[in-house]
Order: sequence, then C-alpha cells, then structure tokens
Amino acid sequence: MQQHIPRKKHIALIAHDNMKRDLLEWVGLNRDSLAGHELYATGTTGALLEKTLALPVTKLLSGPLGGDQQIGAKIAEGGLDFVIFFWDPLESQPHDPDVKALLRIAVVWNIPVACNRATADFLISSPLMSSDYERIVPDFKAYRERLLPKF
Ligand code: PGA
Repeated sequence: MQQHIPRKKHIALIAHDNMKRDLLEWVGLNRDSLAGHELYATGTTGALLEKTLALPVTKLLSGPLGGDQQIGAKIAEGGLDFVIFFWDPLESQPHDPDVKALLRIAVVWNIPVACNRATADFLISSPLMSSDYERIVPDFKAYRERLLPKF
C-alpha cells in the first residue's frame, strides 16, 4: 500500500533542552522551506519555533508530559509525514521510553526522521520536499492475522 504525500507536508519538530539552540538555528536557516509546510511540535519546542519563525505551529504537550507520545500517535494514524527530532545523545531524559517509542513507531510506519543537523540538511534539501511522494506503507496484514495459541 502507498500513502500519497502532497507537496505540503506535515512535519514534526522536537528538540531536547540542550539541543533547542541547535534546532532554532537550523529552522532559522531553513525558514523559507519550512514555511511551505504544516508544522507540529512538542510544547516548549513549538513555542520557541513560533517566536523564531513567526509561522503557525501546532503545539502538542511538552515532551516529558506526553508530547512525544502524541507525535507517535499521529504517525501511527498517518497524520505526520516527516520528523525532525534533535534528541540529546549526552543526557538521559525522564521520558527516555517515550523517545524510544517515537523513534520506533517512525521506523514501523516508514516515516523519515532526522536526528541531527546533517541529516536534517540532507532531507530538507531533497527534491522530494517540494514534490508529491508516494510513501510505501508497510503491510502488516500477516502480523495482524498471525495465529496465536488458543487461550
Ligand atoms: P519540549 O519537549 O519541546 O516540550 O521541551 C521535547 C522533548 O523533550 O521531547
């Protein structure tokens, strides 16, 4: 199965506290590209982004309060096309399980994720950012219909 991703994409942006400066700098450099898309973010990141970009951002809960899980749920429902997640590789977070869950669900549903600036640079400069894209949605039929032992 494929999902048609239009030119205007639904992008989630998240940064852990030590990475927020990095993300703000990156979005500042890429404001023109980002302006053509629909932006979502965890609470604190979103508030900072709105100030920096002067663009509307749909703000979810703060990450440690459930925002990462909300983004994961949107991915599972097919409502997000793309994730920029600058997570902190040098500090553990109270919501590490949520971070792992979000990264996992993005892989499950074949969603592009940039976890550092270089990857984000490559993704944002891809010609696919400004064109339609047919994303392959993995077929989990076999998994859903797997035989379980009788209970
Ligand atoms: P925040 O959450 O944008 O609310 O700071 C980010 C996170 O820690 O996942």
